Amino acid sequence: MSTTFFTHLRCSSCNRSYSPHVIQAFCPACNKTLLAEYDLDAARRFLTRDMIQKREGTLWRYRELLPVFDDSNIVSLGEGWTPIIHTEKLGRELGLPFLSIKEEAYNPSGSFKARGLCLAVSKAKELGIAEVAMPSAGNAGGALAAYAAKAEMKAHIFMPNDTPAVNIKEASLYGASVYLVDGNISDAAKKMNERRSATSWFDMSTMKEPYRLEGKKTMGYELAEQFAWKLPDVILYPTGGGTGLIGMWKAFREMETLGWISGKKPRMVSVQTTGCAPIVKAFRERRRESEFWQNAKTSASGLRVPKAFADTLILDALYESGGTAIDVSDSELIREMRHVAALEGIFLCPEGAAAVGALRQLVMQGDVKPADTVVVFNTGSGYKYVELY
Ligand SMILES: *Cc1c(COP(=O)(O)O)cnc(C)c1O
Ligand SMILES: [Zn+2]
Repeated sequence: MSTTFFTHLRCSSCNRSYSPHVIQAFCPACNKTLLAEYDLDAARRFLTRDMIQKREGTLWRYRELLPVFDDSNIVSLGEGWTPIIHTEKLGRELGLPFLSIKEEAYNPSGSFKARGLCLAVSKAKELGIAEVAMPSAGNAGGALAAYAAKAEMKAHIFMPNDTPAVNIKEASLYGASVYLVDGNISDAAKKMNERRSATSWFDMSTMKEPYRLEGKKTMGYELAEQFAWKLPDVILYPTGGGTGLIGMWKAFREMETLGWISGKKPRMVSVQTTGCAPIVKAFRERRRESEFWQNAKTSASGLRVPKAFADTLILDALYESGGTAIDVSDSELIREMRHVAALEGIFLCPEGAAAVGALRQLVMQGDVKPADTVVVFNTGSGYKYVELY
């Protein structure tokens, strides 16, 4: 019996199907993201919510809805199944009695990037890939390097030279080759592609391979399970490449088909910083594509993405969910970090702090109300950003 209901890959734009048994990047016909598809009708007959609830406390509790065929290819460091922390005091201050933080700092390598890279590396192993490469300005490089170490794979990571020191050091401590590049993440990607063309390195860039998304979608499954299969009203998600937001939206759809959830889905809020807000700008102009953000500058390194490869999928999720997009200045997010640490004992990363700042704005505008159940994603550990204090 197969342990997964994964069947094939489908292009998010032109709908062409692709084999799940050979290496795939993005759609060769239209250059858009490929999505993993499952036989959810079969899964619906076999899998129940009760079965899931008895399982181990990692994202592998959703095993059948993840794309790895053979268990022997799973590369795990204990990722996922992170806590929901009810933040009463912050909630009281904002007039939101049902406010929680989904604490992603507890993942391996200290950020939710572990979820995506766990799946990407496991699938790379299954497909026989020996060397992987990625541009990273923050936590993705360390997460890739950690899973590559566990999988005995060689990782090549291209980082802008202003990447936080911890991110550079962790990647090289985990055994990756780190290449520092003048410029931003787009320049690092350019350098990587120059080097990669003469090699067999596989590109693990956000949304340019299909499986990081599958790891990130587990945040959506966890939210449903942790809220007793009734999703919150509002989700605030600090958005760079958008993998988690797109992934959660995919998970909600899958769970509807599985019959696990019903009713209204959450309003998705994409949070960026004032120094790099391409999704916010596109949302305000009601567009389905963003423009490259010139001179992106923010201390929230995970949000320093001038143009997300899957921007259309991010924007579609915001429109479909009745959500919004908001930007927060760097000085506001630093203030929120200090404030929430002293108030709640949670050391937010700047990206998570931006999401708290965005929530404060939404409450003031009356867009989030006291009756709403609200979840803010703290996507990584504040401990990795020591140079900010
Ligand atoms: C990468 C990153 C983000 C952005 O995540 P995406 O899924 O790429 O939008 C947010 N916060 C932290 C801490 C990150 O490392
Ligand atoms: Zn296509």
